[in-house]
Amino acid sequence: MKRFTLVSLSIMLMLLASLTGADAKLRVVATIPDLADMARNIGGDLLEVKSLATGVEDIHAVPMKPSFVILLNRADVLLLVGLEVEHAFLPALLDAARNPKILPSAPGYIDCSIYVTPLEVPHSIDRTLGDQHPRGNPHINLDPVAGKAMARAMADGLVRNDPEHEATFKKNLAAYLAMLDTAIARWQREAMPLRGVKFISYHPDLIYFAQRFGMEPAGTIEIRPGVDPTPSHIVALEERMQREGVKLVVRERHYPAGLAETVAQRTGAKLIELPVMVGGVPEAKDYVSFIDYNVRTMLKAVQGG
Ligand SMILES: [Zn+2]
Repeated sequence: MKRFTLVSLSIMLMLLASLTGADAKLRVVATIPDLADMARNIGGDLLEVKSLATGVEDIHAVPMKPSFVILLNRADVLLLVGLEVEHAFLPALLDAARNPKILPSAPGYIDCSIYVTPLEVPHSIDRTLGDQHPRGNPHINLDPVAGKAMARAMADGLVRNDPEHEATFKKNLAAYLAMLDTAIARWQREAMPLRGVKFISYHPDLIYFAQRFGMEPAGTIEIRPGVDPTPSHIVALEERMQREGVKLVVRERHYPAGLAETVAQRTGAKLIELPVMVGGVPEAKDYVSFIDYNVRTMLKAVQGG
């Protein structure tokens, strides 16, 4: 009887192990909430998804927490935007996490920028000057068409890591892309009044957004990506705004308010604040509502006069 109990117990444990094995969800860590939201759409119940950033941070400088190292240590898959936008925090976290599954050469390292052609690729770079965009402008998540390319790269990466569920990932991706297509068609209709509108921003976060909706970026408060403004730069920027009739200043919400307010006041421009990731404002609760928020806030600024 005793022997029977032990044998049945061990069989039960084996069964349980194989069951949990079959049920085990792929542990996915995304650098930003945009990627986490896309992953939930593409992977559904097959994934357990966590995001490092909450969306209110500067994507170039997400503050590192010990909990991130634990998450990355246990991850099966890492989702990153790529184009070195996470350069200031991700390499150090990956070093600390010691997880070979998600190192840059491993299948679990999913760079979601691979199907996007970057804009503003520099001819030469100098990191000593604080250059934050060594491989071109990495703020691709603000353009929903680039968002589709990110979702495709993500789905391909998930299939690579969990080929058994390829059909599910592909079906979910197709549904997600169709949903984005419907939203993109609506945004392009709604955003017609944005065409030709010139604006400045603190940092060139809105390059892809502007290109998508026909807006014209006319400069940044920063001298270059990651390089703080000087008084002479601001004078030149304000002169250009007056000369070119720039009536809109965008402050990305993680940049200081004072200077953007001053520039707007001195040039008679309207100042708006925009999130650069999902979660940057409460309304931007997923990728679609994030793009929605930015299109609507831009429209309100332009139409409100
Ligand atoms: Zn940047």
